[in-house]
Amino acid sequence: MRPKIESRRFRKMKNNVVECLVCERRCRIPPGGKGFCRNRMNIDGRFYYLYYGCLSALEPRPIEVKPLYHYYPGSTALTFSGYGCNFPCPWCQNWALSKADPAVMGCDYVPPEDLVLKALNTGCRGVCASFKEPTIHLEYVLDVSRKAGEHGLYSCIVTNGYMTLDSLRDMLEAGITGYSIDIKGCPKTYRRFLAADPEIVFRNAKYILDRGGHVEMVYLVVTRANDWEECIEYVLSRHHDLLGEDTPLHINRYYPAYKYNEPPTPLEKLLEIREEALREYSIKYVYIGNTIHYELQDTICPRCGKRVIIRRPGYVLNRLTSDHRCPRCGEKILIYEA
Ligand code: SF4
Repeated sequence: MRPKIESRRFRKMKNNVVECLVCERRCRIPPGGKGFCRNRMNIDGRFYYLYYGCLSALEPRPIEVKPLYHYYPGSTALTFSGYGCNFPCPWCQNWALSKADPAVMGCDYVPPEDLVLKALNTGCRGVCASFKEPTIHLEYVLDVSRKAGEHGLYSCIVTNGYMTLDSLRDMLEAGITGYSIDIKGCPKTYRRFLAADPEIVFRNAKYILDRGGHVEMVYLVVTRANDWEECIEYVLSRHHDLLGEDTPLHINRYYPAYKYNEPPTPLEKLLEIREEALREYSIKYVYIGNTIHYELQDTICPRCGKRVIIRRPGYVLNRLTSDHRCPRCGEKILIYEA
């Protein structure tokens, strides 16, 4: 039976209102109310995470689809998710899960130990919380990660990076080492569409890097939401200044979805941003995703230009030496593997 968990991070306020401190949305919730993500509820002044272990998806997936290109390349992660999200992106590419109400959907309860056993039995090298925002399932994600670590599996998440620092500290301590983080544009994008602040996302990405974790940033370029020059410059300059030239950047194509019907991002726009990231900001590993131009997903040695990791549908060809160097010029290529 699915346990009802008392939420680990909240603050009591007047009149039995609670402030949730799991993510930076910091919902203030009166008795009987639920938070924005619909996973946390104030019941008579006590605060509960209602859907511990209630999964909407559970399947082995290549690490490259997260995308994480420099983290255990070529491996498979048992990937899991629940329902709901803490962001209201109108272009959500995964809206069937993120916008669903867990109270309506129902689900099977999967205890962390069963999930980890499945990862081991299916030959996965790790586990990954993905498809929609894992932070809102903090307690479950932490338990899965700890259990995975006990069995020698890695643990990573795909996230919008909007957790509080306390939640992030918990994640790092529980052994979550890989973070694929969405950057959804500039302050104007975040204000207009999300009522949020991108500086928090960059703060968290830097916090992870400073503590030895692995970060790859994902910029879904959405037509007329975050695709104008000022916005692009903000994303690239904050990436360069705070995260550094070694942190990989994925520039992804958007397709109309959910409530957003602007045309898909033109390939030329993605190529322009890639050029700017490589030439003007010297970011070493820049990729273009969600297109059929698979060669734009290859890792190129930043020193000599050799194609050192080739990614095509169905396979990954890793040409690096055993100590992760370019076989032609010896340049060290960023790879996270414990
Ligand atoms: S985790 Fe959910 S309830 Fe808590 S602040 Fe974030 S959106 Fe609100």
